[in-house]
Amino acid sequence: MPFLAKVITTKEWGAISAGPFEKTVPKFIVIHNTDNPNPPNDLSKGTVQGGKELAHNIQKFHMDGNGWSDSGHNFMNTTGGILLEGRHGTLDAVKQGMCVRSAHARQDGNRLAGGNQSPGIENEGNFMTFQMGQKQWDSLVELCVSLCESCNINPKNIRGHREFSNTDCPGDWLFSQLPRLRQEVANKLGTNLDKNEPLLKLGSISQDVIELQQKLIEKGFYPGAIDGDFGDNTRQAVIAFQRSVGLMDDGIVGTNTRKALGL
Ligand SMILES: [Zn+2]
Repeated sequence: MPFLAKVITTKEWGAISAGPFEKTVPKFIVIHNTDNPNPPNDLSKGTVQGGKELAHNIQKFHMDGNGWSDSGHNFMNTTGGILLEGRHGTLDAVKQGMCVRSAHARQDGNRLAGGNQSPGIENEGNFMTFQMGQKQWDSLVELCVSLCESCNINPKNIRGHREFSNTDCPGDWLFSQLPRLRQEVANKLGTNLDKNEPLLKLGSISQDVIELQQKLIEKGFYPGAIDGDFGDNTRQAVIAFQRSVGLMDDGIVGTNTRKALGL
């Protein structure tokens, strides 16, 4: 399935010219919020024209305020479900299965790496408690489906900015909805979210183990070094976590333990 989401290009919204930017191989989709007002005070007013104006404002803020060389994000999704290209070259890159390096989602400390090599989507609004409207949600799903398809990204790798950097972004409510977003995207792609998730257990070595170890630390359990190597410390931490949430304490990370950990 080709990239079907309808996205207004930088050329179409008249962005200040910038780039070219380094091409990257994406692993994730990174979900953000712009921290702008929510409806009925939203800047874009849900219109195409409003979306273009917001894109200009944000590009100007990122370039003049932050000193960046272009819009920091790859895509923006307005309250009206209007999708706009951010960083120049993004749309051409993702249609070829690549991305361009963004200014957002750098790695802080032991959090996930690779955020700024992966498409980042700014959603207009602040979603700490405010719940996104249906139009904006639908366009977010549509864009994620196209990105997963064209860039061969597993929907389970749709992540929140806070998993990479020290930030509240994309807001508590929107972050809590990521499992639903992953599931809706997987349904549209016709893939099973659990299919590619092997059991993690003593002896496993993988990127998934790194993510498991990071989650255990976030939850207050000590897995030893974050090295992607599932050793006895990691096993003991998994067992302690499983007991704390009433799961069978077998020290093996399958579907239920993944779910409880938010992996
Ligand atoms: Zn963000």
